[in-house]
Amino acid sequence: MSHTQRRRFALFAVLAVFLLGVAAASSASAAIRYTISIDHPEKHLFSVEMQIPNVSGGVTVQMPAWNALYQIRDFSSHVRQVTASAGEKAAPLEKLDKQSWLITGDGTITVRYTTYWDEPGPFASQLNSEHAFLNLAMILFYVPSRRDEGVLVTIRDVPGGWRVATALSDFDSEYGRHHFIGFQAKDYDSLVDSPVEAGSFDEFELPGFSPRIRVVVHGDSWKREHLIEVLRRICRYELDLMQDRPFETYTFIFHIGKITGGSGGGMEHSYSTAISVSSEEFLPGVAAHEFFHLWNVKRIRPSSLEPVDYSKEQWTRALWFAEGVTSTYSSFTEVRSGLWSREQFYTDLGYQITELESRPANRWKSAEESSLDAWLEKYPLYNLAESSASYYTKGQVLGVLLDILIRDRTNNTASLDDVLRSLNTDFAQKGRTYRDSLDVRLTVEKIAGSSFEEFFRRYVARADPLPYAEILSLAGLDVQLKKAGRASAGFAVNRGPSGEFSVTGLLPGSAAAAAGVQDGDIILQWNDGEVPRRQDRWLRQRRPGEILRLRVRRDDGEMNLEFPLGEQLEAIWVVSESASAGEKARRIRDGLLRGVTQARPATKR
Ligand SMILES: [Zn+2]
Repeated sequence: MSHTQRRRFALFAVLAVFLLGVAAASSASAAIRYTISIDHPEKHLFSVEMQIPNVSGGVTVQMPAWNALYQIRDFSSHVRQVTASAGEKAAPLEKLDKQSWLITGDGTITVRYTTYWDEPGPFASQLNSEHAFLNLAMILFYVPSRRDEGVLVTIRDVPGGWRVATALSDFDSEYGRHHFIGFQAKDYDSLVDSPVEAGSFDEFELPGFSPRIRVVVHGDSWKREHLIEVLRRICRYELDLMQDRPFETYTFIFHIGKITGGSGGGMEHSYSTAISVSSEEFLPGVAAHEFFHLWNVKRIRPSSLEPVDYSKEQWTRALWFAEGVTSTYSSFTEVRSGLWSREQFYTDLGYQITELESRPANRWKSAEESSLDAWLEKYPLYNLAESSASYYTKGQVLGVLLDILIRDRTNNTASLDDVLRSLNTDFAQKGRTYRDSLDVRLTVEKIAGSSFEEFFRRYVARADPLPYAEILSLAGLDVQLKKAGRASAGFAVNRGPSGEFSVTGLLPGSAAAAAGVQDGDIILQWNDGEVPRRQDRWLRQRRPGEILRLRVRRDDGEMNLEFPLGEQLEAIWVVSESASAGEKARRIRDGLLRGVTQARPATKR
């Protein structure tokens, strides 16, 4: 369907409505306007026009170097052919560095460029014939000195049959049939904190919630009733826990199944989240984590992450709390809302401890240091067990240990829940950021009524061995190191500088060696799909004897090789209920699993 004339008319109509709408809040003529055309999805090119009013002499525009992940990804490397004009005339344009352009001129300056994106996942942007997903910081320039001005965005040439979803206020219902969609934000930061999905997705509201929770799903192999039930439990528990509803509408954007291209994960935003999972089984953990970010990190915000500097790394020691303790709450939410049994909670906790203890780097890299080093995660070498320990894993375990210690010291009348609520009321709701680990410690001490100076010095700032057994016993839990068999491929995988995977460290006598695998083989396919980035995690989900199919390349061509996974013994940490737990420890264990304290009796959920 092509309605060029009507489209043009609709553009004026939309802009007119924008102008009227924004005039109330600010001076409409001052708003920076973007128009993004998604005319040719098959070319994966977003065509951008940016209009900057009220320029005197010249203006610098910049493309963020990072967003969504704590990694420098240089989005300017995707940008093609930047041009500028002032009124009718071409304006002189000078590139200043890898991501900045200086435009000379007066009045309203128009900048035009295209940018190529075809990467799946919540941390990227994609335009193809199936859908468009936009993390706007990867697509839109900003004016460094005018980031706090109101912005207007129009997406045009939306393919017939597609709709557009974003947490920003839009004009979808009235103008969607004209293939335009427009929305506005109070500033650039709010704009780029709202990803946009365009396509022919499913959309519904989560029943029984006020304020409203909207669910957008682009995917296959998912069941609506199941998804509703999972999200209902997660959102209900976390909203009750925090006693706070800081949104008018919250939007879940899901990509499920093939559309994810094998990439997975979730990205938090102030009024929405984007989640990609290859299968529905991974969805509850990610959704519980991202929804809790509504408070922890988006509103309970470390000072080190504000104001955002898009041009270079933003150093923070707080990710062990902002991310790791968010994972603590993901696991608390799963067990407390009934998505997990208590045994599943123990299994997960044991797995987290095993993951930590199996990494040599955990012995010298502290939780705070891991947070600072988040920016190194894009380097394959850094992800080796000898180089890094995850602030997610360590923070998640630290959260559990803190909860138990607070309960023990207060005779189970207070918990980590009170710490999160206190951070929310004392900082988030007052518009204040917290001073990283310092304010976390001070809040823990306020709630517990005693010093946590030693705990934070040894286990947060330094990398002293975590006293699992000692602290878990206070909650009637045993932790034991056991030997267990696990699936083994018979070789390790090396990732080369250009991203290719190859076989290394092949074990003589393994089934892989017997099947003809050789050191140095380039792995093209792994069970007919992509090579998993973390083979260790992949192997944990398999059993010895399962078949692994590889397609490899070596000097004499390509070949398929097939063999059963072997078995290797590994040390795993197992958490279980202690038969000899005393009365107080049993109360603390019950309080942790159900999310209750003595002072605040259980409410039926
Ligand atoms: Zn997170």
